[in-house]
Amino acid sequence: MHRRAVSPAAPAAARPVTSLRGVGAALAERLRALGVETTQDLLFLLPQRYEDRTRVVPLGELMPGQRASVEGEVLLTEVVFRGRRQMLCRIGDGSGFLTLRFFYFNAQQQQGLARGTRIRCFGEARRGPTGLEIVHPEYRRADSRAAEVAAEHLTPIYPATEGVTQGRLRQLVGLALDAAANGDLPDLLPPALLDDARLPSLVEALLTVHRPPADAPVAALVEGRHPAQRRLAFEELLAHQLSLKLLRQDIQREPSWPLAGGGALRQRLLASLPFSLTGAQRRVLEEIRRDLAQPHPMLRLVQGDVGCGKTLVAALAATHAVEQGLQVALMAPTELLADQHAQNFKRWFEPLGVVVASLTGRLTGKARAAALEGVAQGHASVVVGTHALFQEHVRFASLALVIVDEQHRFGVHQRLSLREKGARDGQVPHQLIMTATPIPRTLAMTAYADLDVSVIDELPPGRTPVKTVVIAENRRDEVVQRIRSACLAGRQAYWVCPLIDENEEMPYQAAEETAATLAEALRELKVGLVHGRMPPAAKEDTMRRFKEGQIDLLVATTVIEVGVDVPNATLMVIENAERMGLAQLHQLRGRVGRGEHASSCLLLYRAPLSMLARERLAVMRDTNDGFAVARRDLELRGPGELLGTRQTGLAQMRVADLSRDADLLPKVQVAAERLLAEWPASVAPLVRRWVGAAERYGRVG
Ligand code: ADP
Ligand code: MG
Repeated sequence: MHRRAVSPAAPAAARPVTSLRGVGAALAERLRALGVETTQDLLFLLPQRYEDRTRVVPLGELMPGQRASVEGEVLLTEVVFRGRRQMLCRIGDGSGFLTLRFFYFNAQQQQGLARGTRIRCFGEARRGPTGLEIVHPEYRRADSRAAEVAAEHLTPIYPATEGVTQGRLRQLVGLALDAAANGDLPDLLPPALLDDARLPSLVEALLTVHRPPADAPVAALVEGRHPAQRRLAFEELLAHQLSLKLLRQDIQREPSWPLAGGGALRQRLLASLPFSLTGAQRRVLEEIRRDLAQPHPMLRLVQGDVGCGKTLVAALAATHAVEQGLQVALMAPTELLADQHAQNFKRWFEPLGVVVASLTGRLTGKARAAALEGVAQGHASVVVGTHALFQEHVRFASLALVIVDEQHRFGVHQRLSLREKGARDGQVPHQLIMTATPIPRTLAMTAYADLDVSVIDELPPGRTPVKTVVIAENRRDEVVQRIRSACLAGRQAYWVCPLIDENEEMPYQAAEETAATLAEALRELKVGLVHGRMPPAAKEDTMRRFKEGQIDLLVATTVIEVGVDVPNATLMVIENAERMGLAQLHQLRGRVGRGEHASSCLLLYRAPLSMLARERLAVMRDTNDGFAVARRDLELRGPGELLGTRQTGLAQMRVADLSRDADLLPKVQVAAERLLAEWPASVAPLVRRWVGAAERYGRVG
């Protein structure tokens, strides 16, 4: 594989934590649980909050519930047995008294708290049997030097991990910080870039974050809005942006098949359709056609709201490769969706003499071997499947175009591995990614910096907007009645079942119970059930019968969330809608309103609603526009939900938060361009510092 010239040498500060004084293998292991492997990771492990130990609160002023530093002289230390063995230490400072209570202690501690010793302690005061007390305070002798140093700035509290105390973490971060301040951590951002964004230097930022002065704006620090954190977030966002840009450069340097045929197959497919393309479909197809004609791989993302007709755009794009005798792979995130795509593609392509193969995980035995053979020999022109397409033994004769549907379920890695599937004679396939998650422009430019973006911003004509109603769960009877009348009028309905906890096991049980209850209540209707745990054949059978209209009401878990297309279905009921993200609700709602009949979506909620839940449901009620929903989702829940949490590296950033720091994105984009043009030597170390070389560029089987 083509590799960028990146020096493998570790930058100065990326040393293993074991290089720090006193860190052995055991501690290193525990730190790993916090994602800390290098001294640099320690520096980027930001405090979650701060405690003010710079001020010593007189004991007489201490209030219950207050977390404070206090100082006093030990008056009495005794071991008593009150239900369990414990050590009580009474201190006083002239203004009042305080009891320190220890359930775990040793003889040495007891001696250390001998009468007359001055100690400084920190902890939360609460009411005890004999006045205020602190259980297990942090404490040290007041005259020790450590106490005085700690009091110079606010005390950072780091995310907790088993077996590493806050004190130890503070000390380790302190060591790394001192080394950084002494030139161990190069500032990779040229001052010119920072001045533009008015941000402090890296070391300055780290010192502020880990050792804020006593008068620092704590609220801003905790919220991550302090310029010091913004400096770090800026650098992190920039590194991610650069890594995607490099990825893109890498791929686009490689040769691909220029697919610039006459378009006869495309014309024939278009002619066979009962409708004509929307203006937006036509425009996006033109963008795709131009990319495909290039001798370098297309890297294009098509965003379009649910129901805008992306599948057809994919099929028309495919004609350009098929016409040249080359292959196309279409990948879907679920088997359900892969089946649906396979059906559509067969319906469209087979009459034109084009062979479509379907390759999902459950295809076994002879059928699988035959399908694989067809793909390897180039007999199948279009191959539709799931992740199964990534498997190593799947070989293509001449894969020229990879289409990924509903991209938010796929990661960058997966796309990379698929690109390598196609590589034949050094040719890398074109990539087309389709997503129904419309995301705001600045976010798209960050999350998809490796892709060009096309938008289908128009729905096929004749659709009536879905009417969304928010209903309390105790009005279920009315909802059942609505299902009855819709289905008796010849339409079909979905009922999406609640999410019970985040427990993987539960949703299908709930679905089974709901299906049984509804079948009981709606005896005149045919009720079907699909959930992720069903055997694939049963699932497929139910879906087929629903599509054919043999099932009136389909009870489902969120497996039907993505892409399912049954135009006769006009009613969508979603239980526990208050628990779902907006993007998901919008996807689910997109299952109806796909045909000529007016459709509704009923969002059932369980009272009481939180403010946030109330707002989210209101967004759903008030708009059908996927972009508007996405913008609100970004504001209300942050980008994780919007982009799909796990797969995007963006959701795993250490410091930056895409919604909080969204205003930095335009500056980050400018900085990325400038850095590439003016300071190219900083690019690779930056990416390595924040993104990690292996992670982005490593190949995944
Ligand atoms: P999505 O963009 O959500 O994947 P689909 O590709 O499933 O949408 O399309 C939704 C429905 O609209 C399908 O039934 C499809 O056949 C139909 N469709 C697509 N394009 C058009 C068009 N230009 N005019 C009318 N119907 C269309
Ligand atoms: Mg779709």
